[in-house]
Amino acid sequence: NKYVSLKHHVDGYPSESDFELSTTPLQPAPGSGEVIVKNLYLSIDPYQLDRMKRYSSSHTTCPAAAQIEPEQARVAWPLTSRSGNAFVAWSQLTTSLFLLQRIDAYGVGKVVASGRAELEEGDVVAGLLGWEQYTVVRPGTVLMKVDAKDLPLSCYASVLGEYSLHLHQIKEHKKDAPKFLMTATGTSGLTAFAGFYDVCKPKKGEKVFVSAASGSVGSLVGQYAKLSGCYVVGCAGSKQKVDLLKGKLGFDDAFNYKEEADLKSALRRYFPEGIDIYFDNVGAAMLEAAVANMNPFGRVAVCGAISEYTNAGKRAAPDLMDVIYKRITLRGFLALDYLHLHEQFSAATSDHLRRGRMTSLEDVSVGIESLPTAFVGLFRGDNVGKKLVRVGEL
Ligand code: NDP
Repeated sequence: NKYVSLKHHVDGYPSESDFELSTTPLQPAPGSGEVIVKNLYLSIDPYQLDRMKRYSSSHTTCPAAAQIEPEQARVAWPLTSRSGNAFVAWSQLTTSLFLLQRIDAYGVGKVVASGRAELEEGDVVAGLLGWEQYTVVRPGTVLMKVDAKDLPLSCYASVLGEYSLHLHQIKEHKKDAPKFLMTATGTSGLTAFAGFYDVCKPKKGEKVFVSAASGSVGSLVGQYAKLSGCYVVGCAGSKQKVDLLKGKLGFDDAFNYKEEADLKSALRRYFPEGIDIYFDNVGAAMLEAAVANMNPFGRVAVCGAISEYTNAGKRAAPDLMDVIYKRITLRGFLALDYLHLHEQFSAATSDHLRRGRMTSLEDVSVGIESLPTAFVGLFRGDNVGKKLVRVGEL
């Protein structure tokens, strides 16, 4: 079983040399409650960088978590999936990955051997897998059956991905207060859907700006905005991406932010009447420029800040007087908060995809060896649409 692990923790931009490809014998049979899955598509996500740092920022900013009995829960936050009933309290959590162990990731795979009654060989499942050819899914980790029907299987690792999250207790910390490793896996579809509809509360005719617009989340936000009758402009980092936004994805306009010396005046050009909604995937200077161009009562969905994840530049400092006097709402959110919308999101989005009203943009690399480059490429803007790696064939 080939797998990819972290050689050392990442500081700044990730590079291929941070990772190592190794081989280990595959466990011959699953134990009780275990499932051996042949991995097919793995989801490559920017949040994984945070977990590759020695001291994940989530240490302090994410809920520190402990799996506790529901009746003892101080914060009732459903965790494991729509079907799960675990709860977390905001106490001891670490999210940093261990060195030399396979990196976990959301994905779709095929069951090759099952120690669970509800799953059998040949079933296609989605859930928390890893950067490896085969994953032994441990008891307690949720696997959801995938019925691909009339949509490509890759969709279930990209736009229709579910939320699967697992807490592992870290043995070394057993003596004192228990510490848990959180392995979170996101879904760009639910993120785009919940962030746009619930956080941005769009109205027909409103002017919407989306950054990282050709990426996984951004490309979906722009399409939801068009379906809602909004005027949509996206920015992206190359001419090819800009052409795709205006052509295939139906954005009203798009521009290459790397060619703009002054982002504030660029946005003034694209939005002479101001921005009503900004869906922020990048943070820093783009957030500042967007806030400067927002209309009164504008909404900013702070979804991600990818330009800040590598600690390469400055952090966003939007003009707060603008925020106050224009009564702008700046709201951060996590897809995790919206599991209750998953069915609504999934039904609506599958229908749009089947009827050709939406496109799932996917950028698929092939082979386990391509995982490091696929991941590193997110921070160089290599990907067009949802980055996936196909590590095996059905
Ligand atoms: P994308 O598919 O959008 O890939 C990342 C893209 O970001 C790149 O292709 C690149 O496109 C752009 N980018 C990279 N570095 C920079 C930079 N320094 N400045 C500007 N743009 C940059 O990734 P996702 O769609 O998966 O994620 C988008 C954002 O949403 C991320 O910030 C992510 O963390 C966040 N997110 C948040 C979730 C939540 O629950 N709040 C859940 C999932 C994702 P380009 O060529 O245009 O530069």
